[in-house]
Amino acid sequence: MWDYNVEHEKKPEQQARLQEARTLCISCPLRIECERYHLALADEFGRCPPGVWGGRVFPDGRAQQAAA
Ligand code: SF4
Repeated sequence: MWDYNVEHEKKPEQQARLQEARTLCISCPLRIECERYHLALADEFGRCPPGVWGGRVFPDGRAQQAAA
C-alpha cells in the first residue's frame, strides 16, 4: 500500500492507492516518528525507499514532498 510503484499498476490506480495510504497515515500514532525517520534516512544516505512516509508522498526517495 505504501510503496510508490507497484508492478503492472496503472497511474489512476496508483494515485488512488497512494491517497488511501495517506488517509490511513493521518490517524497513525506513529506519523511524526515515521516522517522523522524518513528524513533521518534521507540525511544519512541521501535517499531512502520511495513511497508514503508520515502521510506524505516521496516519489523518488529523496527528502522532497510530492505535489499530491
Ligand atoms: S507510513 Fe508511517 S505514518 Fe503512515 S501508517 Fe505507516 S507508520 Fe504510520
